[in-house]
Amino acid sequence: MATAGKNYSVMNAGTFEKLRETHRVMAGKELGLTGCEISLNSMAAGHGSPFLHTHTLNEEVYIVVRGSGTYTVDGETFPIEEGSIVRVAPAGVREMKAGADGMEYICIQAQAGSLTQSTEHDGVIYPVKDA
Ligand code: ZN
Repeated sequence: MATAGKNYSVMNAGTFEKLRETHRVMAGKELGLTGCEISLNSMAAGHGSPFLHTHTLNEEVYIVVRGSGTYTVDGETFPIEEGSIVRVAPAGVREMKAGADGMEYICIQAQAGSLTQSTEHDGVIYPVKDA
């Protein structure tokens, strides 16, 4: 259950160890996200995506936080491991497979082309920090 204030919401998705039992936690609805969807995922050793898929509008970013495996886009397969960040355009036909140690990763979906400025230029720095 998320806690929310006027300008924030916070949830706890649980430990990655627990995630190995549930396999996926979606954060979007609970946090009330309006610009992206975020999921935390666990893929057991040797397991892979149940299907190939593309998206209509959203690009996806996969961030591997533990383990390793392979990622395939449009028939091209490449290795991924802890620290890998993979961006896939909506039309990319994709699937992934975990290696011998399994894999935990974060997936972020956002509408392709929706980020129209650098986050560096979107931040507003206040002149005085409250004590
Ligand atoms: Zn997807």
